[in-house]
Amino acid sequence: MSERIPVKTISPVKVHKPSPSKNDNGYQPRSRIYVRAVEGTLETFRRFFGLIFLGIFAILPWLQFNGNQAILFDIGAQRFNIFGLTLWPQDLTLLAWLLIVAAFALFFITTFAGRVWCGFMCPQTTWTFIFIWFEEKIEGARNKRIKLDQRKMDFDKFWRKTLKHFSWVMVALLTSLTFVGYFTPIDMLFIDFFTFGASFWATLSVVFFTFCTYGNAGWMREIMCTHICPYARFQSAMFDKDTFTVAYDSSRGEKRGPRSRKTSREQNLEKGLGDCIDCNLCVQVCPTGIDIRNGLQYECINCGACVDACNGVMDKMNYPKGLISFTSEHELAGGKTHIIRPKLVGYAVVLLVMVSLLVFEIATRIPLEVDIIRDRNSLYRETNDGLVENVFTLKVLNKSQTPRTYQIIVEGLDGHRFIGETQVYVQGGEVLSHPLSLAIDPYALEETVTEFYFNVQTLDMPEGEDIIEVREPSKFIYR
Ligand code: SF4
Ligand code: SF4
Repeated sequence: MSERIPVKTISPVKVHKPSPSKNDNGYQPRSRIYVRAVEGTLETFRRFFGLIFLGIFAILPWLQFNGNQAILFDIGAQRFNIFGLTLWPQDLTLLAWLLIVAAFALFFITTFAGRVWCGFMCPQTTWTFIFIWFEEKIEGARNKRIKLDQRKMDFDKFWRKTLKHFSWVMVALLTSLTFVGYFTPIDMLFIDFFTFGASFWATLSVVFFTFCTYGNAGWMREIMCTHICPYARFQSAMFDKDTFTVAYDSSRGEKRGPRSRKTSREQNLEKGLGDCIDCNLCVQVCPTGIDIRNGLQYECINCGACVDACNGVMDKMNYPKGLISFTSEHELAGGKTHIIRPKLVGYAVVLLVMVSLLVFEIATRIPLEVDIIRDRNSLYRETNDGLVENVFTLKVLNKSQTPRTYQIIVEGLDGHRFIGETQVYVQGGEVLSHPLSLAIDPYALEETVTEFYFNVQTLDMPEGEDIIEVREPSKFIYR
């Protein structure tokens, strides 16, 4: 029991730190990534797609409809104009449907083709590639950029860096102005901003989004995709063995290694060499700086740059393309991809149902809303001529973009006298508070609380169009 445990002096444990690979030519994980430009089918497709996406983003807020900005999310006035449709806070359910539709569309696409949203449509990727394009044009190709950064500051480096950051800020500013132009009239915003006449909040928003765009696409880049965006983390829940994703065919590529171009593919195979020549181009073109040959990684945004790069190499080597390709796990294992499968069909069905409900909700939406507010001071009052009077305020909200005249009709309250205007005129997208009162002989009332309806209906619908009406229940109270 009292025996002592002998004490031993242990020398400190040496921790192994991996050093950058020798043939990596400057690439270091988690440090600056110098993305190499690539040409190929997928790159052309992404540029084409990016241009369409950019064009839509830039043009939409400039479109006019009925003399107004066609798309305007006017937060101050609490209404969203989308061409002929005006949405109010009361239409929040529509927004909820829209978000659900967007979520299921994303689930469906991710299950089918992996993270193609990230690689081809995500604004972060699109703007990062635009910024890289400027970088490449001003500072040169990847190797030149590496050398430029290693060099001490001189005049050449100074002007290139200045011009690069200036062009980035200009792109970010234009992006920000366009984005803020979705929330405030864009024509006035451009004029006011450049003449220093914009409001404090408009200026602050433009500066804030300029800073975000410049920071995200210029500096943060892959960190947004690998560390901040939550989508990267839960995407694997949607993947299955039939999901198309960018993958390296290791059974064909390994054992990788350099070789002479004079030796044929067959000779190399006999030597035990696979089709990967270990040129590292797939790593150099990757915007997130990963090596796809290490297998599926959450950092991969499915942009396909490595597919194009490797296909170019395969072409030069006279090898068949597709060493890296959009493929499924089943196909990689020599099987077939099952396009029609329960999970995908399930997402498709839910998506279809949600889209139908959204379309139904928009199609059956009544562009008129009526709120009835009772007088808070007294439930009823007795008039000098012996009648009982209830006072109301009708809030008539014209949800359309056309001015309308409405008729107010009281239904289910026999013998009432209507005190106030029975017709009201409301501008498109405006709400009108209309005070009125109803008076009735107390002997005509059978109950102390009588239920009735306010029926508000349009008077000036064009010929051939149905009238728009809303019936709202209310109560006439006596005692
Ligand atoms: S680009 Fe193709 S050949 Fe070159 S290292 Fe990558 S996988 Fe191998
Ligand atoms: S591994 Fe390939 S597909 Fe994935 S992000 Fe890198 S370049 Fe794009």
